[in-house]
Amino acid sequence: MKPSFQQYYGPWALVTGASSGIGAQFAELLAAKGLQLVVTARRQDRLAALQQRLNAQYNTQVVALELDLAAADCLEVLQQATADKEVGLVVANAGLGFKGLHHTLAPAGLRQMLDVNVRAPTLLANAFAAPMVSRKRGGLIFTGSMEGLFSVPFSAGYAASKAYVHSLGEALWHELKPAGVDVLVLAPGATDTENLQRQGFDPQRMKGLMTPKEVAALALEHIADGPIYVPGPQNRLTAHLIGCLPRRVRVSLVGKGTQRAMAQNRRP
Ligand code: NAP
Repeated sequence: MKPSFQQYYGPWALVTGASSGIGAQFAELLAAKGLQLVVTARRQDRLAALQQRLNAQYNTQVVALELDLAAADCLEVLQQATADKEVGLVVANAGLGFKGLHHTLAPAGLRQMLDVNVRAPTLLANAFAAPMVSRKRGGLIFTGSMEGLFSVPFSAGYAASKAYVHSLGEALWHELKPAGVDVLVLAPGATDTENLQRQGFDPQRMKGLMTPKEVAALALEHIADGPIYVPGPQNRLTAHLIGCLPRRVRVSLVGKGTQRAMAQNRRP
């Protein structure tokens, strides 16, 4: 008999970046599937509210861990917090980005972005995959981005960090497949979360946004369909069409599109 989601990916799931957006929806959906959760982010008040809500609604155990993934010892803190737990699913979802000409961006922000988007998922996979391999079951979900599929002028560093995530996840998909551990790189297009607002966009002006709930639900539905999954038919079509273009044409087109989106959808 096929094991249930809970049997295959449980009993515990670790979700980073669970204080808002796609990560909070991952936590909610996993609690609904009966998994116990370790949720992490920096905003402890948000995590505490999530913990209370999921406890009450699904009667599931939720550990809320305040953690800055840019901190040098973040992996050790995570390992300590999960030492007595069988973590069958890791959702490496926390991430941040900046829009603008690369040479105008603040180096401190870029450093933090690399720590959170690149260093953290690399170390998480390194630390948490081994027990899954021993158990011959489990899963890793990395939140990449459609921006990881192409070079993106005016989002150069962020897109490059997500290209790294895609490469990492795709390679691990192959490495871990024989052990029965599923790896999925989720590559969302524009999604209505605080991330967009933080990057200076006004979601009200943007067309075709997906909701974080749709994105997280599709990722869980397609967890075994790795290595890379782009949620939403419109996003898949866009990714396919852009991917067919010659490299120079592609980067120019993507650059113009990004610049236009930044001008048209700017927060007032
Ligand atoms: P969001 O609501 O801003 O969520 C980002 C999460 O990452 C928050 O929970 C935030 O928590 C956490 N985070 C940021 N910096 C952190 C740090 N230094 N240490 C620990 N946690 C940190 O935005 P989102 O859209 O849901 O983002 C989730 C993922 O989706 C990201 O990887 C993002 O790149 C990706 N993505 C988003 C879109 C989009 O259009 N929204 C598109 C493609 C990909 P705290 O601030 O509380 O620490």
